[in-house]
Amino acid sequence: MSLKVYKFGGASVKDASHIYNVSNILTKDKGDQIFVIVSAIGKTTNALEIVFQKYIEEGKEGFLNGMVEILDAHLDEADKLKLDSAKLQSKLEVIINDCLVNLERAIKINKSAVYDQIVSMGELFSTNLLSAYLQSKDLRVAWVDLRKIIATDDNFQEGCVDIQQVEKNVNDHIKPLFENVDFVIGQGFIGSAPNGLTTTLGREGSDYSAALMAYGLGVDTLTIWKDVPGVLTADPRRFENVEKLDRMSYKEAIEMTYYGAQVIHPKTIRPLQNRGISLHVKSFIDPKGEGTIISQDGLLNYPPLVVIQDDMILMHISSKDFSFIAENHLSQIFSVLNANQIKLGTMRNSAISFAICVKNPGQEKLANLINDLGQNFSLDMYKNLQLITVRYFNKQLIENLTKNKVVLFDERMKYTIQLVVRPSLELIEKEG
Ligand code: ADP
Ligand code: ASP
Ligand code: MG
Repeated sequence: MSLKVYKFGGASVKDASHIYNVSNILTKDKGDQIFVIVSAIGKTTNALEIVFQKYIEEGKEGFLNGMVEILDAHLDEADKLKLDSAKLQSKLEVIINDCLVNLERAIKINKSAVYDQIVSMGELFSTNLLSAYLQSKDLRVAWVDLRKIIATDDNFQEGCVDIQQVEKNVNDHIKPLFENVDFVIGQGFIGSAPNGLTTTLGREGSDYSAALMAYGLGVDTLTIWKDVPGVLTADPRRFENVEKLDRMSYKEAIEMTYYGAQVIHPKTIRPLQNRGISLHVKSFIDPKGEGTIISQDGLLNYPPLVVIQDDMILMHISSKDFSFIAENHLSQIFSVLNANQIKLGTMRNSAISFAICVKNPGQEKLANLINDLGQNFSLDMYKNLQLITVRYFNKQLIENLTKNKVVLFDERMKYTIQLVVRPSLELIEKEG
């Protein structure tokens, strides 16, 4: 008998038939005990982001109206799974009411705090639905509120985790549960701040939650179940001729995810590497498939790995008085980026200008960034670009990738090339 950690993302629990599939995967190896991290079902997190907007614009009424559809969607799946949906409904309504109580405090802090109270509900809903289903199959299951375990700071929307506290909480509260049950179900993506309010770990953060639980529980392996056969050489939604990697080193995985490969959240690797826990990325569609094993030793030679990020902005930041962009300017620029929680894709400096490529942070944050940088610098900005990163590149591949595209920026390192491109030959217009 061994203890494992499994993580199921939104796609793997998106409806009743997928939840049924998850229960088959969980019960495949008799005698295993599994800690299960679950994301919100399907696109619930996106739907909750709209409810957040409604709360900001219309208050409590807007929030409650927005929640009706999300609640009903979960109850519909419960009906299809032949569960007692009245019982589930009352549990989910308690979550909604608790959220309203938290919102009264969060609104006095900032919008990010409000966001986290609302957007975290997806995982609280999905885990209740899955554990109700597993209980209906007479499995020995416990549902836990992982906000009590995943301790973060109060950096809402991107909570910074106190991993030592997490480990202590896991020892005190999670390990003992396995004396009585075989499956413990907890939420990805969410934690709590020292003041007790809910925090989130950043979009797509459930993989990271799973790594934290694997670290705390001291398991040998974490398995993340995806809708792809494993880690591929590029996103299969963009390219046809992709290959699965059988193995990958932590180092390669952290590079690839840092550059934006969506398959694993970039923060996932560190806790695993620190404890030598191997990460299996496997397909929930074909659970018998070998998947990809990420561990200390990867491949000797990697094929080219391509990562593409859309909706990028290229900014040229220059001094207003033609003075050099020197260390003091750079430190100012970085502190503005940090204060505005901007994620850098790539950068380069020249005598009087510093170029950065960043993910579009959304209208409001972008306006704040422009305002803050504009105090001391002149800005030129190009929007709607792609950042293409290729590890182990070759000339032919770069030619293919940049065909019919305007390359605005390129940066070559020994193994990695980064290109900022506009995806057509149309005239480039300055936008800022
Ligand atoms: P989850 O259901 O766990 O949230 P995601 O949708 O976030 O899963 O991640 C899986 C998706 O990542 C795949 O469907 C695939 O389109 C995309 N993806 C991007 N790059 C890669 C890659 N290099 N290898 C595999 N999948 C990738
Ligand atoms: N549900 C969250 C999101 O969609 C976290 C996750 O799925 O990893 O971002
Ligand atoms: Mg995801």
